[in-house]
Amino acid sequence: MTAKQLTATRLEKYKDVLLKEKDETQNIINDINEIQKRGSKDGNGDLSAYSQHQADLGSDTDESERRVYILEKELENIKKINSALKRIYEKTYGICEICGSSIPANRLKIIPYAKLCIKCREADEQRKRRRK
Ligand SMILES: [Zn+2]
Repeated sequence: MTAKQLTATRLEKYKDVLLKEKDETQNIINDINEIQKRGSKDGNGDLSAYSQHQADLGSDTDESERRVYILEKELENIKKINSALKRIYEKTYGICEICGSSIPANRLKIIPYAKLCIKCREADEQRKRRRK
């Protein structure tokens, strides 16, 4: 590995960002779980403020499907955030898992749980696209 480890101060900063992101993601998950629970209890008779507000986005069923979709996305994000936090504790955070080079700071700013550099990420996406 040629990449330099991030300094402890930098790692701390990224840890804060990730923990905040994890908090927000967890809140979204809790909210959706709460809405889903309420929805299934009250059945179709429920015209809550929420579904009325979202009425123009489609029927209740669409809404429910959309929520499940968001929920799955957020659960996946939590997993990514957790593994990024693990990399912070192991001090391998900010180092590409494939080629071992440093992930640019401006990339980590946009995607704090990125584990690949841009080059490897693009190669990975191309591989996935080909598989489809
Ligand atoms: Zn790489």
